Amino acid sequence: MAAILGGGLGGLSTGYYLLKNNLLTPNALKLYLLEASNSCGGWIKSIKTKDYVFEQGPRTIRPKGTTGLNTLNMMQDLGLSEHISPITPEHPAAKNRLIYVNHSLHLLPSSLISVFQTKQPFSKPLIYAAFTDLKQKPKKEMKDDSIYNFVERRFGKEIADYAISPMICGICAGDAKEISVKFLMKTLFEWEQSYGGVLKGFMKTMFKPSGEDILELSDLAKRAQEEKWNVYTIKGGLATFPSALYEHLKTNNVAIQMNSKIEELEFIDSSTVVVKNASGEQLKVNHVYSSIPSHSLAQLVGKQHPPLAECLNEIPFVTVGIVNLFFATRQPITPAFGFLVPPIENSPILGVVFDSCCMPDQNGTVLTVMLGGRWFKEKFGDNVSEQELLSIAMKEIQSILNIKEQPTDSHVNILEKCIPQYVIGHYERVDFMRKYIRNHNLPISIVGSSYDGVGINDVIFSAKKQVEECA
Ligand SMILES: Cc1cc2nc3c(=O)[nH]c(=O)nc-3n(C[C@H](O)[C@H](O)[C@H](O)COP(=O)(O)OP(=O)(O)OC[C@H]3O[C@@H](n4cnc5c(N)ncnc54)[C@H](O)[C@@H]3O)c2cc1C
Repeated sequence: MAAILGGGLGGLSTGYYLLKNNLLTPNALKLYLLEASNSCGGWIKSIKTKDYVFEQGPRTIRPKGTTGLNTLNMMQDLGLSEHISPITPEHPAAKNRLIYVNHSLHLLPSSLISVFQTKQPFSKPLIYAAFTDLKQKPKKEMKDDSIYNFVERRFGKEIADYAISPMICGICAGDAKEISVKFLMKTLFEWEQSYGGVLKGFMKTMFKPSGEDILELSDLAKRAQEEKWNVYTIKGGLATFPSALYEHLKTNNVAIQMNSKIEELEFIDSSTVVVKNASGEQLKVNHVYSSIPSHSLAQLVGKQHPPLAECLNEIPFVTVGIVNLFFATRQPITPAFGFLVPPIENSPILGVVFDSCCMPDQNGTVLTVMLGGRWFKEKFGDNVSEQELLSIAMKEIQSILNIKEQPTDSHVNILEKCIPQYVIGHYERVDFMRKYIRNHNLPISIVGSSYDGVGINDVIFSAKKQVEECA
């Protein structure tokens, strides 16, 4: 018997891969999935009406790389191929990504030619960053660094402030000055450390095999490659994805229990662990796959394994305010994916997604404003109301996008501790946790966004890897 803790994408994917690897044949394993809330999907939540889809969590998925292609394989397997809505390179949402600096919106360079041109807010063409990298002496023998420090050192302050910092806000609502360089630029950092610079490392390794896992590709994954999809969404909302996984698990006899908040794990020996929930029920299983956030898992293992709990608690999380807005009439916005606001602008908002440009099935204009993140408490305190966040979001879009109308409909959600922050030392911490688990023969695998990547593709791929390691 095995139990999966948490029914977000990490937990559902773990169930999917246990089934796929035939680890649940009748005599081998009975599988439980235990979810604290009354629905599966975790942060993925879509509100669908006849006029719009409001995504309260994620909305787009990247199709590229091993992890992206792996997700597409899963999508096809679940019968979701015709629900997918790709954004191809010529689409405005792929070409136009904006940043808001010095009271105006600027288009980020997206073509080879634009790298040679001076585009505001940058004071020089981006190609100069390559010269900075070549001139700059490496800072050697570093185990880790912040992504901001690394980019500032190798490519200059403007790239760190106007390209990387907003990108980090867009991906994890975090502060690039705290996030590990290995979060996005592990290879570039290794090139600096081994070869003395990024360009030097690129030249020296360009003919070496990449070492990425090789996957057998589904027709859907091949189509995404041929058509060069930039990102994709799911028609009717991304929640269709966890719903399809949930149905798949149910049809295959996984025992899914909602409203089952796990409060303690008692490890008996290397193949027995007792899972205890808030209603006092106990379940004895041979293995636990924990996909709940690291801070929640820390509470479950703290009694027996304080060093593991301490390390789990060291992963910080940020809170994000989400304001979805629907205007029945079309508003005059630039066709684009949306805009991000660099932290040096000191704005209450992190950015705005132009949903009616990048998602299908939207009438009128649909926008999503993201607020706070790493700066949530600093900007809004502990007790900000949803109404206050709506007013702040409206004030910002009125001034930045010149939208004068009140929205026809809106929805506000405060997502408490929703995104883990891979701060300096994160990867070493996760190594420590997995070593601790191995050394103490604990029958538990850790999956989900707290450990191996914060995006949808990473969470799914992490589940696949952890299941394969236990097989
Ligand atoms: C606002 C936002 C926007 C995002 N945008 C994107 C995007 O555009 N593209 C992208 O790729 N990724 C995006 N992400 C990231 C993506 O949503 C996550 O990687 C993914 O949803 C995480 O899934 P998970 O299963 O690891 O965690 P979660 O979704 O947190 O699921 C964990 C589950 O565990 C349950 N749980 C917690 N404690 C217990 C307990 N004690 N007992 C039982 N159950 C418990 C919770 O109720 C929850 O259902 C975004 C995330 C957020 C928050």
